[in-house]
Amino acid sequence: MGEGSPFPDLFLIGEAPGANEANTGRPFCGGAGRVLSALLGSAGVNRNNCFVTNLVKCRPPANHLGPYMPAAGQHCRQYLDQELTEHPNANLVLLGDVALQGVLNKKSIMKHRGCVYEFGTRRVMPTIHPAALMRDPKMWNVVVSDLSYARTMARHQLPEQRFVIEPIIGEIGTWFEKHVHRGKTYFVDIETSGQALCCIGIAANESDAICIPFWHRDGSFYWNTEESMIVVECMNKFLADPELYKVMQNGVFDTSVLEGFGFEINGWIADTMLMHHLAYSELKHSLAFLHSIYVRGAYYKDMFHAEKDEEEES
Ligand code: URA
Repeated sequence: MGEGSPFPDLFLIGEAPGANEANTGRPFCGGAGRVLSALLGSAGVNRNNCFVTNLVKCRPPANHLGPYMPAAGQHCRQYLDQELTEHPNANLVLLGDVALQGVLNKKSIMKHRGCVYEFGTRRVMPTIHPAALMRDPKMWNVVVSDLSYARTMARHQLPEQRFVIEPIIGEIGTWFEKHVHRGKTYFVDIETSGQALCCIGIAANESDAICIPFWHRDGSFYWNTEESMIVVECMNKFLADPELYKVMQNGVFDTSVLEGFGFEINGWIADTMLMHHLAYSELKHSLAFLHSIYVRGAYYKDMFHAEKDEEEES
């Protein structure tokens, strides 16, 4: 069973006891526990102010839980639920894949780490298990940053999302009238598939964004001829205007694709991928990773395609 503060700042859930934990009856008291304490310390979290427990309450044979999941997690769930009931207000940190699967029923800790989810009235952040950092410490500072964010996540207001995803033609003009003004900065990203330009995404701020699609998922073109002309003219005006400042993610690629389709690009002032790479060249620079450390919130690609992504993962 777990141990720690009755009124914890954070409620941390690991995998299962190892040899040290099974001998002492205390969670995270061996090597992984020392790493966990160090990570919490660096994140400004006092372990004494946390509650630390495991999803599975018994040590698995040969420390190998894989073959017993998800049954072991389901079997022990009553004990975790009891611990959660006794600590009703604490926000949760899920350490590793097993806790992620056991609590949120999601797979792939590398995809979901750093994201913030709701769990009843609590917030939950998955992050990498300390034992994984013992094998590969590259993500050490990322986990420290996750824990530091988790400590204060109750206080963070996640941005509202007023995203226009599959617009009808009239919505494009309305959105541009409302949000596009000279002298402002926009975040622009494109999606391609093979030679095709699938869509252009434009964000005016952290809450207002529009995705302008060109193709339906079934391979048919999104717009009729008349609508196409309106969309292309609107995109032309936006992309070519040097006073509509654009920040791109890997803009070298995006601008070359857009130019290939005949668009003129002006006002490209910065690139999130390059800025991040300059600051943290050792870290990943995909949009998903940048989102996980700079934006937080749920894994962004799952927002609209939860079913598809879960299928892809399994
Ligand atoms: N790893 C865990 O997940 N839990 C422990 O208690 C120790 C190591």
